[in-house]
Amino acid sequence: MIDTPVCIVGAGPAGLVASLFLSKYGVKHTIFERKKEIGDKVCGECYDGRLANVLNKLDTNLLPAMLTEQVLQPIEQYQYFNHKGKGLYIDAAKHNAVSRYSTYRKDFDTFLRAEVLKSPYAKLCTGESVNKIVTHTNNIEIITANDSTKSELVIIATGNLSMLANQAKQVSPDHFLLAARGYYRNLNITEPHGFQVYLINKPANGYLFINKLPKGLYTVEMFILKRYASKHGFNAETLLQQVIQQQPQVKNIMANAVLVEKVKGASLPSTANKNQSFSAERVLLAGSSGSGVNPLTGWGVGHAVFQGMCAAEQCVASLQAQAFGADYLQRYDARLKKSLQNDWQKSQQVDFIMRYLHKSTGRFIGYAASNKYLNNIAEKAIIGV
Ligand SMILES: Cc1cc2nc3c(=O)[nH]c(=O)nc-3n(C[C@H](O)[C@H](O)[C@H](O)COP(=O)(O)OP(=O)(O)OC[C@H]3O[C@@H](n4cnc5c(N)ncnc54)[C@H](O)[C@@H]3O)c2cc1C
Repeated sequence: MIDTPVCIVGAGPAGLVASLFLSKYGVKHTIFERKKEIGDKVCGECYDGRLANVLNKLDTNLLPAMLTEQVLQPIEQYQYFNHKGKGLYIDAAKHNAVSRYSTYRKDFDTFLRAEVLKSPYAKLCTGESVNKIVTHTNNIEIITANDSTKSELVIIATGNLSMLANQAKQVSPDHFLLAARGYYRNLNITEPHGFQVYLINKPANGYLFINKLPKGLYTVEMFILKRYASKHGFNAETLLQQVIQQQPQVKNIMANAVLVEKVKGASLPSTANKNQSFSAERVLLAGSSGSGVNPLTGWGVGHAVFQGMCAAEQCVASLQAQAFGADYLQRYDARLKKSLQNDWQKSQQVDFIMRYLHKSTGRFIGYAASNKYLNNIAEKAIIGV
């Protein structure tokens, strides 16, 4: 006996978008989310253009609504500064190419959740943590503290480091980054809507972002290798303050800054998992429970929503064919790999560069800052024009 054709575990961007696509195709489903309220997730809040493609496939009114309500804002300019403060300026507006959006993460997740709640096909159960998933011959069982639900398929969209994702052979990340994030107002930035990256080399190699969000808020966020931070007993809050103070440009920009929410730390597995498996018998993994994210390439939410869409479409195909076996679901893996392999490869390269060629990257930024040819190459790589 089946209670509902599909269950989704996790109501982050991947799970919510999977739900929206299932509703679009008229498939009944239940979503389990362990938190009662939309959580405060540490995120760079810079989303790649894939997000726009997925939203437009869902409903062409969504992206304009998100822009009008200032849930999303196109990023017009990127700036990359080396340790000496030399800067590379990339003007996205000049190319009329929106390759990235900034957002206040809570607003983004809240917007998607409100869309999900409009559908008669979706049942959202919040405050319900899924503890176990058991695959039976004729169904798959989703077990929470209070209940058990049987369905044909489950989409696991539980984010980083999900124990549930091990069901589909999640690859263990080989290293982690420590992120420290603060939300601020009143930064001394007068330039267009932009995203700034500063290479840092004290107390360790890493980088700091300043991302201008809609509604006058800024995310200031830094990343260093977690094992280094743990070894030296660094705490996220003091580390962020220290890095801000020792980078003269950042210090200047933040001279009158007002912290609006307590600085928060997070651990981020920085891998692209090219050998990751995304499916198993009756199971599909979507979002960052499936693939790692590199903060500099920032293909996190863009990939998560794409995977949510593909997982929902795979459910529709499986329900039509009544085929839920691991072999049949391999076509989901194949689709993700075909579409995302290049990005994963680039993420791995950027990860390698940041770990081992940090100094050379700083030198490249220095040369490119005053060399048109190198600047053009960087522009193409970053905006994809
Ligand atoms: C420090 C940091 C910076 C980042 N910067 C960026 C960036 O700039 N741009 C970008 O695009 N991406 C960024 N990311 C990545 C981005 O946050 C993720 O890719 C994105 O959140 C993935 O969405 P998701 O739906 O897969 O997972 P999540 O957003 O993590 O959602 C998973 C949901 O599942 C729920 N859940 C977990 N376990 C259970 C359970 N057992 N039962 C029920 N519910 C459960 C959680 O409560 C959560 O709501 C960053 C990540 C980090 C950590």
